Order: sequence, then C-alpha cells, then structure tokens
Amino acid sequence: MTDKLEKQLNTLSISNISEIFTETYPEWFCSLKGNEFFCKIEPSYLKNEEAFEFLKPEFKHFDLAMEIITNQENKVLEKRSEEENDLIEKESMILYGLIHASYILTNEGMEKMKQKYVNGDFGECPRLLCKNSPVLPIECQNEMSPKCVKIYCPTCNRVFNPPYKFSKLNGAYFGSQFAHLFLKKYPEFEKKQEMEKYQPTMFGFDIHELSDLYYKPKKPKITNEK
Ligand SMILES: [Zn+2]
Repeated sequence: MTDKLEKQLNTLSISNISEIFTETYPEWFCSLKGNEFFCKIEPSYLKNEEAFEFLKPEFKHFDLAMEIITNQENKVLEKRSEEENDLIEKESMILYGLIHASYILTNEGMEKMKQKYVNGDFGECPRLLCKNSPVLPIECQNEMSPKCVKIYCPTCNRVFNPPYKFSKLNGAYFGSQFAHLFLKKYPEFEKKQEMEKYQPTMFGFDIHELSDLYYKPKKPKITNEK
C-alpha cells in the first residue's frame, strides 16, 4: 500500500469506509466470472418478496437466501456451521437466478438485457456466415444437456451450446420464453435479410447447381414409423 493511500484510509471514519466498499448483492453476483449473462436486478424488484413465495418449497433456507440477495443480512450473521453457510450461499445464488428469469420479462429487466445484447455480452453466433451476429441466452432442454443454458441466434434461427465457461449455467435463470419475447419487443433486432448460405466454389469460381461437380446435401427422409 502506498503512503498516500494509507494516509487517506487513516483519515476515513468507519462509516466512510463501509460506504466505499459496500456493493449490492446483484452488483457482486454479476461481477463473478461466468455470470456475464446476468443483469443487475434492481433492489425495488427484489423487495417484492411475496411475489417469490412460490419458490419457497424449493429451498431449505429461503428467508435467509432472500436476506442475502436483498442485503438485509441480520439473521445471516448468526453462528452456523461452515457447511450450512455454504448451503445458504449456494441457495442465494440459485434464488437470484430464478428471480432473474422473471425480472428479465419486465420492461426494466428487458431494457437491461437489451443493453447487454447491444454490447455483445452474450457473445456471437459461432456460424461463420452469420458474421458475428449477437446471440441471446435461452433455456432449451434436450437429452444431452437438460438444464444448461444455450445461445440463440436471431440471424440463422439456430440454437448452439455457449462457450465452455457458461456450460454449467442453468437455462432456467433465463427461461425458454425470453428470447422470442425480446425479439417481439425489439423488432429492430429481428433478422433483416435472408440467411447467407454456403456457396461451393472451385478454383475461385462458383459451381452451378446443374454442374456434375455440384454437391447438394440430401434432405433426410421423414417417416412416421416408430
Ligand atoms: Zn447464426
């Protein structure tokens, strides 16, 4: 620590210090590595605890987890085993995620996600011909990865696995309806032109569809057999 900084800290009262280092739970949560898809839920939304009562049966420490994410840690400071504290912390993160799924459907939450989309916080479509089109987080369950978040590209209308650091993130924190409601609300982000397709070439020239050299993938046969 530099002498200048040490002198400045010595002149601060305890209340000044707490003002400087205090950050809200949403600010802290969103700053964690791997949580870049989340937006900061406004404290006014979190205060409406009754709206989240339906989630209570899913948690062992619902009230305590709620206290943590609303920065009202009165009972949280009570003595508990390390194991129990870890569980409360884990439950508070899951609770934030589930509340986040409903918050991003509000006007305020959607506006925040719009800003993140414009900033490219959700990443880009891995398909080369989509030319770095920004993507949206989406819940899309399948047998291979039932809970994990996916990314949806409005340009090619396809769903992909996200980069590795998001591969453990639960899709329920974003919901299956968010992406299409987002595009309905902000039509300026809808696909504006036909999806560019791969054009086969040979020695720099396009191959005509009628040429013997043209390869056209066969469409899979659809049968009703089970
Ligand atoms: Zn795409």
